[in-house]
Amino acid sequence: MPDHQNPATRICPDCDGFASVAVTLGGRNRQGHLNTITAHCKRCQGTGTLPPLRTLLDAAATVVFAGGAQ
Ligand SMILES: [Zn+2]
Repeated sequence: MPDHQNPATRICPDCDGFASVAVTLGGRNRQGHLNTITAHCKRCQGTGTLPPLRTLLDAAATVVFAGGAQ
């Protein structure tokens, strides 16, 4: 996980930035390595970050005020 993130970027609260893990399935392959699958965080889709809150607020405000006062 990089230390130099954009301060506006939010770390995913579901995985705390650790968005992908290797899960052992048991047993080993012919080379002697563990059989694993990679699982990604569902909320952040494996990125470890979420869009800045400002982006979400701007989008919500656009929806609310798009109908506007008429
Ligand atoms: Zn996540």
